[in-house]
Amino acid sequence: MIPLTLKPNESDLVSTDVDEGAKHFFVWTIGCQMNEAESSKASAILRQAGYLPTMLEENADVIIVNSCVVRQQAEDKVAGKVGSLARLKAQRPDLRIALTGCMVTGQQEQLAARFPHVDLFYGPSEFERLVEIAPEIESVDVDLAELPHFYQDGSVDPDVTAFIPIIYGCNFVCSYCIVPYRRGRETSRPMGDIVMEVERLSARGVREVTLLGQTVNAYGHDLAGQPDLADLLAAVDRIDGIQRVRFLTSHPKYMSDRIIDAVADLPSLCEHINLPIQAGDNEVLRRMRRTYTVEYYRERIAYVRERMPGVTLATDIIVGFPGETPEQFEHTLQLLAEIRFDKVHVAMYSPRPGTLSNRWVDEVPWVEKKRRHRAVEALQKEICTERNARYLGQRLDVLVDGFSKGRWRGRSRGNTLVFFDAPGDWKGRFVDVQITETSPWYLLGDVIESERPVS
Ligand code: SF4
Repeated sequence: MIPLTLKPNESDLVSTDVDEGAKHFFVWTIGCQMNEAESSKASAILRQAGYLPTMLEENADVIIVNSCVVRQQAEDKVAGKVGSLARLKAQRPDLRIALTGCMVTGQQEQLAARFPHVDLFYGPSEFERLVEIAPEIESVDVDLAELPHFYQDGSVDPDVTAFIPIIYGCNFVCSYCIVPYRRGRETSRPMGDIVMEVERLSARGVREVTLLGQTVNAYGHDLAGQPDLADLLAAVDRIDGIQRVRFLTSHPKYMSDRIIDAVADLPSLCEHINLPIQAGDNEVLRRMRRTYTVEYYRERIAYVRERMPGVTLATDIIVGFPGETPEQFEHTLQLLAEIRFDKVHVAMYSPRPGTLSNRWVDEVPWVEKKRRHRAVEALQKEICTERNARYLGQRLDVLVDGFSKGRWRGRSRGNTLVFFDAPGDWKGRFVDVQITETSPWYLLGDVIESERPVS
């Protein structure tokens, strides 16, 4: 599953100005990078139809809320946001409000009753329905296929890095996951379309791309000729100007030798693999319907490390899954201690209506889930301390993505956070940084190549 961003962000905000005579739109997004990409596409459609973005929802003629239901916390935030728009709608009945994203699929009638002030409920990727709240789209004959699918992370230089969905939906049915019910079956974008899009981005100066999918490494099985992710990675690697390629999120079942070899052999592919395991116990994995065993996962990681000894590894863990015994949880800790990931995203199990595991008793008490959560975090802190210490004195290639807490911030090819002090504007640049201090969560260093212009 693509990591969830629980912090809402207003995408595509470029101006606080309101142009009298023009119509304005505001997009509120929560959830994974796929949602970010879909919000960007909706923004591109509205721009094409003559709308301008605004940072203030009070100034908008059209408001789009892009929702997520992967966790209860996200769903609650969406409900709060949509509810708060009722006041605005009462003041300005001509305001048009749309709700989209995973909350909407199959729930349109219930949502219409709950939020009568919302004008349009449209499912993920149903962009053609935007015409119902923005009729100008029809009159300018927007070509949906021609508009970009990518988005640019607001924290980095928009001219340098982009996120591109390559496959939508998921064919797995993990027992705890709502995604397949809301996003449908896997649908890959044609390889030629993706390559063309990356070529256009490169011509505009983009140097790093992240290819996205709920099961990104399942890419291609539904296309004619059945290309796989390795084929796509090779094609993207050949594009002039693209210096870094990443992909998110992989399923262990599809992590083939071919894909691992492609990451190891292609120069622009970053030596970083994010491979969610979710639990380190075979019985828990079986009940999660993950379709692999710990032994299989271990063997995949061994091959990754054989091909890329310096690789960084990330994974996702769910603690407190229904029926997970203390002993089974210990197996997860043992696996983490054995594999020694560079990053672990840990979440406490939270039942989602409509999923298989929601029918089971959620018998691990909250305090015990919390204890297990803390145990993973404590172990991981030790491991990350040791893993990051190996960078001391090393020189890392860093793409600078912003300024925070008085320092410049960027990421290494292995996706490790690196900070440095230096005068000037470094945002969006590649720099060589010599690491002078390490910690479990980030590295500190000095710029040793004062400026390496993007080529
Ligand atoms: S069903 Fe499983 S593989 Fe698919 S998105 Fe959910 S967790 Fe990921």
